Amino acid sequence: QIAEWKKLRDLPTLTEDNVQVELAANIGTPADVEGVLENGGEAVGLYRTEFLYMGRDKLPSENVQYNAYKTVLEKMSGKPVVVRTLDIGGDKELPYLEMPKEMNPFLGFRAIRLCLDRQDIFRVQLRALLRASVYGNLRIMFPMIATLGEFRAAKAVLLEEKEKLTSEGIAVSENIQLGIMVEIPSTAVLADQFAKEVDFFSIGTNDLIQYTMAADRMNERVSYLYQPYNPSILRLIDMVIKAAHKQGKWVGMCGEMAGDETAIPLLIGLGLDEFSMSASSILPARSLISKLSTSDMKQLAEKALEQATAEEVVELVKATVSK
Ligand code: PEP
Ligand code: MG
Repeated sequence: QIAEWKKLRDLPTLTEDNVQVELAANIGTPADVEGVLENGGEAVGLYRTEFLYMGRDKLPSENVQYNAYKTVLEKMSGKPVVVRTLDIGGDKELPYLEMPKEMNPFLGFRAIRLCLDRQDIFRVQLRALLRASVYGNLRIMFPMIATLGEFRAAKAVLLEEKEKLTSEGIAVSENIQLGIMVEIPSTAVLADQFAKEVDFFSIGTNDLIQYTMAADRMNERVSYLYQPYNPSILRLIDMVIKAAHKQGKWVGMCGEMAGDETAIPLLIGLGLDEFSMSASSILPARSLISKLSTSDMKQLAEKALEQATAEEVVELVKATVSK
């Protein structure tokens, strides 16, 4: 099996009936890029920039960030790199920011909420990203977007920083796609409106599942409710993909579900364009996808959307795929 995976390393990701999808990797640091390339990753689908801010006693400077982003873009040599802007808060704290304790940190002041409030922090990151953009194929993604107002506000800040750089004579790429994570149910439900304004979506199922099921993703006692295959989750994913495709936009997924062998047949059937996962899952996923026919998976997905429970969905996938 390992020999088969190796053969797939430099090949595109094609289904049995030759429909192409993209297999990307999630990374946390520039050093992770080696593993992405070794495992045949076609892109970085999620660069979690939090790690640049964690494990130090003050905010990372613009140059520290610029160097990290530039390194990743250069190492990926023109392949797409989706960088997510700072997603701090929730379980991830920055001691030096001295944030007040919250009753419900996962529902609180985090990610884009914090960045729109603390624009001093946000603008430094955006400047670093914009300056690095000329070294590769940069895509910028905002986390935890709940309303179109947030997306528009964040985009406006980005455009302001771009203007400033340009007027300072600093080169910035003109081809930066701008997207959002879909990890809050309000955004999934309203995806048709978002799709008119964003360049792409990346579905963050780790959070989307926790917020849809109202089950803390870290709490063992409610983990039975954390159900990736619940038809409600599949319907949200379906809505997002349909809304995006209607506007000619692409949809990725960067939550754990994207690399899950039970979920992949369903996601192929729902029409997902990009799958972003840990590097070690890429070759097994490429192998699995090569054995799936999109027309069969479409039928499977349509049936799955009409099931009542997660268990029924899993049974359906098993009966269809593991023949
Ligand atoms: C997600 O929520 O699915 C996601 C990819 O982001 P994180 O796991 O960093 O919250
Ligand atoms: Mg998330």
